[in-house]
Amino acid sequence: MIRRELSGSPAAERRAQTRALLSWYDSHRRELPWREDSSPYHVWLSEIMLQQTRVEAVVGYYRRFIAALPDIASLAAADEETVLKLWEGLGYYSRARSLQRAAVMVMEQYRGKLPPDPAELRKLPGIGEYTSAAIASISFGAAEPAVDGNLLRIYARAALYRENIRTPAAASAARAYFKERMTSRPGDFNQALMDLGATVCTPPPRRPDCASCPWSAHCASLREDPSGETAAELPVMPDKKARRKEHLTVLMLYMGNRILLRKRPPKGLLAGLYEFPNLPGELSGEEVTEAVRSMGLSPLRVRGAGSARHIFTHKEWEMSGYEILLADGPVPAGLIAAGREELGERYAIPSAFARYVEKLSSIVVE
Ligand code: SF4
Repeated sequence: MIRRELSGSPAAERRAQTRALLSWYDSHRRELPWREDSSPYHVWLSEIMLQQTRVEAVVGYYRRFIAALPDIASLAAADEETVLKLWEGLGYYSRARSLQRAAVMVMEQYRGKLPPDPAELRKLPGIGEYTSAAIASISFGAAEPAVDGNLLRIYARAALYRENIRTPAAASAARAYFKERMTSRPGDFNQALMDLGATVCTPPPRRPDCASCPWSAHCASLREDPSGETAAELPVMPDKKARRKEHLTVLMLYMGNRILLRKRPPKGLLAGLYEFPNLPGELSGEEVTEAVRSMGLSPLRVRGAGSARHIFTHKEWEMSGYEILLADGPVPAGLIAAGREELGERYAIPSAFARYVEKLSSIVVE
């Protein structure tokens, strides 16, 4: 049994909770490249990259991005293709575009420096409640809880909050709870909670490791049920909507040593990125041959390139691929003929097509 009896006033308990969390952080903090300093640009970039993405996946991207665009001025001056290329594979590309638009605004309206005030930060594209609080607390020492899924989960368990956690009321209750306890080192306090949520008070299917938690003596759900069962069942989530499934037939069109690509529309899913041309539905080889002819191309050989699946937040793509060897001829409007080396250096292809990009390197066109 982990529970320990506490004595003293609620204020004394809150102070003890703050001390316990910060001292746990001092000995257990994760060493991450963006923690080497707390410059606003580094915190901002890392927080944007970390949205919807695992820390381990972000580390390499972060280092590469900082090496290529080391400050806000270089990000603002870079062309969009360069930024998207650095982002290639991270997904949610609108984040990269907003980041760059915000960098331009910072250069033009804030003399090249991110403002310390969270309300000012939120005027910049892509910066909402969470990111503004993270930057303001870590870089400028403001007492602003950065409430994301991790903090909501910790809050639901530590405060025994049994309502639906995905509501504005839950978010403001969580913010108030943490703010009351954020009485020293606000940046470290937020980062400690991020680490606690990632390594100790973890989401299902991992059970929270209450025995290692600095808040085990302060946690209301553990106090109510020392077995940890109640804690593991929190937070209460709304029923998830099923993801919409879409079937696509992906065309890998080879013309000599080049592959034909298409640029996606400037708005919507994967906006402005390059893709293998694709058609809705699951087409047979004959249907693919017909469709390719109707694009004004002359297929010489069509063969299957395997299936792949990609999961987005609200939809799922089930893809079947075909490799199509084409006769030489003019490239139809709307398509681009890219050399293989250009695929690596120039055209950003989203990871949804990773299976087919991988295939390219192993294909020998006879
Ligand atoms: S004691 Fe357990 S449930 Fe409570 S905050 Fe810590 S890890 Fe989470």
